[in-house]
Amino acid sequence: MSSNFIRDIIINDLENRKHDSIITRFPPEPNGYLHIGHAKSICLNFGLAKEFGGKVNLRFDDTNPLKEDVEYVNSIKEDVEWLGFNWDDLYFASDYFDIMYEKAVLLIKKGLAYVCELTQEQIKEYRGTLKTPGIESPFRNRDINENLELFERMKNGEFEDGKMVLRAKIDMNSSNINFRDPIIYRISHSTHHNTKDKWCIYPMYSFAHPLEDAIEGITHSICTLEFEDQRPLYDWFVRECEMENIPRQIEFARLNLTNTVMSKRKLKLLVDENVVDGWDDPRMPTISGFRRRGFTPNSIRNFCKEIGVSKSFSTVDSQMLDYFVREDLQKTAPLCMGVVKPLKLIITNYPKDKTEFLEIENNAKDESMGTRMVSFSNELYIEQDDFMEEPTKKYFRLFPGNEVRLKGAYFVKCTDVIKDEFGNIIEVHCTYDPETKSGSGFTGRKVKSTIHWVDAKNNIPCEFRLYEPLILDDENSDKHFLEQINPNSLQILNGFAEKTQLENAKILDKFQFVRNGFFSVDTKYTTDEKLVFNRVVPLKSSFKL
Ligand code: ATP
Ligand code: MG
Repeated sequence: MSSNFIRDIIINDLENRKHDSIITRFPPEPNGYLHIGHAKSICLNFGLAKEFGGKVNLRFDDTNPLKEDVEYVNSIKEDVEWLGFNWDDLYFASDYFDIMYEKAVLLIKKGLAYVCELTQEQIKEYRGTLKTPGIESPFRNRDINENLELFERMKNGEFEDGKMVLRAKIDMNSSNINFRDPIIYRISHSTHHNTKDKWCIYPMYSFAHPLEDAIEGITHSICTLEFEDQRPLYDWFVRECEMENIPRQIEFARLNLTNTVMSKRKLKLLVDENVVDGWDDPRMPTISGFRRRGFTPNSIRNFCKEIGVSKSFSTVDSQMLDYFVREDLQKTAPLCMGVVKPLKLIITNYPKDKTEFLEIENNAKDESMGTRMVSFSNELYIEQDDFMEEPTKKYFRLFPGNEVRLKGAYFVKCTDVIKDEFGNIIEVHCTYDPETKSGSGFTGRKVKSTIHWVDAKNNIPCEFRLYEPLILDDENSDKHFLEQINPNSLQILNGFAEKTQLENAKILDKFQFVRNGFFSVDTKYTTDEKLVFNRVVPLKSSFKL
């Protein structure tokens, strides 16, 4: 891992013997699928534990039963593992509900917590603002025994949701608003995915999180910057709850990417509103979306390494991710020819009943990736874009009278254009020159361009799904993100590709389709009849690292 301020803190703590070894944690709330921002946090927490020979826990921060679900728990485990990380221990915050309850009772006994019957709105109103002090709740000075009794009755389910809360009794005049008697327990008669109906009161995040960290002996509790103001409260809870282990909270800047949204709440909206077809839609910035799109774990880890860790806010160009996956796939994805917008090409002087197999290399820069045999006959498909009846200036591909190379095969020269009754081009007729076979050493004449092709008689029909960014960023607009959806984010094309190369293709196998980009076999729509490909990225980009 490259150097950063958190790493420096850890090195310092180890050198000064503050800790013998470190324990970090990744603490997602199971209320959605993980996104690329979480990957940054995962790489950081798992990376540090690994580098310093420490431990890292995967902890589900499941204190809000209404939004949480086992589906999310399972997807999070799968995603962390897919990214290439193994946790030491797996915990659920809900496993600590008993201890948290005891600690809340301890605070009441110490005169540091009280049961408050103000409404949500009143509590908010009484809290004051940055400029004005808060107003004390009329329930603030309730007697300790009465508080103990009421809190127990809250636990026993005697009151309905929202009727009362338990609040820490700290300082209504504090300049840090987090200290103005924060809520630590609320009533919610709902079934929890883990504890089922055992509890009807649930701890609030700001109370629960520091206790979870302390219980697990976390040494460095790494979170994002919006929790910076909460750090004094975090320390207060650890101290006043008399926890044995004292974790240290450290904040870093969250990852933001261009042309996307990055919060589970917003991503869930995209799913619920059917803007995308699920959390793993290849346009989603979720880990499962990137996986289905064809990204490799390595490319995501390299991306996280490159963006680094700091305290200053920034938005990263999403093309940087493309750069890293391209770098990876260039080395590993075998070449293949596929035509995404087919146009029939007939070679009039090639024997009608002949098929030959041409040997073509799988990676022009790496011989060890071997070759494959590509079927060739008198009927081929080429890209519609590779033919123009009336060529524009500087168009060197196929047009009447012009000669081009068919990649790995022969030179062909266009002799005729066949149209249907509406004037649409349906076939292009050519002649080929047998002398010009690739690899034969022919030097007689040159052509200005090489185009790819697929045998029309022997191929695999494919669906190609091409993507553009999901969100059209417009910094000057204050439109809701759902109104900034790119209408062209998905384009579905039907074409053909080489049979031998793809015959045994499995879900998530990746190929470099000549001139068209890197593609990966889709996990959801691929059937025995049809291979469906997601374009991971085009081959080239103007983006520079
Ligand atoms: P979201 O708003 O997307 O739900 P969250 O912070 O509420 O995110 P959690 O499940 O609580 O999500 O996050 C687990 C961990 O991932 C936290 O430690 C959090 O700081 C970190 N994290 C979440 N989003 C980002 C991000 N964009 N960049 C870096 N770390 C992030
Ligand atoms: Mg959250």
